[in-house]
Amino acid sequence: MRLKHVKGAEDAVLNSPHCISLTNELRHNLRSVFDNNNPLMLEIGCGKGQFIIELARRNPTINYIGIERYSSVLLRACQKMDAMETPLPNLKFLCYDAEVLPDFLNENDVAGIYLNFSDPWPKDRHAKRRLTSERFIERYEKFLCKDGFIQFKTDNQDLFEYSVISFTESGYKFIALTRDLHHDEVLNKDNIMTEYEEKFVKNNKKINLLKAVKE
Ligand code: SAM
Repeated sequence: MRLKHVKGAEDAVLNSPHCISLTNELRHNLRSVFDNNNPLMLEIGCGKGQFIIELARRNPTINYIGIERYSSVLLRACQKMDAMETPLPNLKFLCYDAEVLPDFLNENDVAGIYLNFSDPWPKDRHAKRRLTSERFIERYEKFLCKDGFIQFKTDNQDLFEYSVISFTESGYKFIALTRDLHHDEVLNKDNIMTEYEEKFVKNNKKINLLKAVKE
């Protein structure tokens, strides 16, 4: 992904009331950033936040955390929240690499994980960096509830087929799967488009979706 440097983004994100700073007190205690015990769901690689903001708006009794490692991108999500008359109390952002998550969450803390248009890392030698690699799935299991789900959308056919194998090899079954989401009446009904998805759909690209749960 081409990244535009945004001057002051790091400080703005650091000081944003919507962003969590990972202090020692939050180690294995991340859920405490919300003052209720509602289920917690994550979007990893939330980009500019369009998807998770709308998801959190539609589901006020679920807590959400959007994780994005680049401040210049996450800043846009913070600005969207700032522009709301009442910023959503059930949504926070983390400007970190997803690798840190197991240090801040406990077993069974997370009811669902969304991965939207994750970077494909097409070279074989970079396969371990894919957010749907078996290595990452193993990591998610450290905090995903036993009946929790992982939902993945991508325009990238190779990454999708790789991910189907990766989830299957990790002992997951699919409760939803389509290789053409926007022509699937049932699965597309409540679909929330991400920024990337809007671009791909405009260019007539097919969108793949899977929703996996542990067998
Ligand atoms: N989900 C957004 C969308 O669909 O519009 C953004 C998609 S963009 C291709 C992928 C995003 O995931 C990038 O902003 C990237 O910085 C972020 N990302 C990739 N790997 C990550 C990781 N390990 N931890 C946090 N963010 C990550």
